[in-house]
This record gives sequence, C-alpha cells and structure tokens, in this order.
Amino acid sequence: MENKVCPILECSIDEGLCFDICMVAEGVAPERTVPREANKPNMNEICLECKYHKN
Ligand code: SF4
Repeated sequence: MENKVCPILECSIDEGLCFDICMVAEGVAPERTVPREANKPNMNEICLECKYHKN
C-alpha cells in the first residue's frame, strides 16, 4: 500500500486517521474527534484539496 504523507500532520498517516480528519474537514464530525496537532487554522482547506481526500 502507498505510504500516504498527510500535508496537515507532515508525516505518514493511516487510513483510519485520514478518514477521521476528512470527516472533520467535511463538517460532519466535531474537531475533538481528531488529534490536537491536526487542528490547524487551515486544516479544512488543506484536507479538502488533498489528493487523498475522501467525501
Ligand atoms: S485527505 Fe486530509 S487527512 Fe488525509 S492525507 Fe490528505 S490532508 Fe491528510
């Protein structure tokens, strides 16, 4: 499987955490469901434009 490097976390990310962050970026899950280091001011924008984004 491809090693995904998340542009928000700036490190590799597993499918589960990527999904959780995508759900927050989509506005369907609260920010508290992702680790604090993902809560950057432009997190939603970065995630929505990321090539790995799922919606
Ligand atoms: S889709 Fe979002 S959470 Fe997943 S790798 Fe890209 S920026 Fe990170």
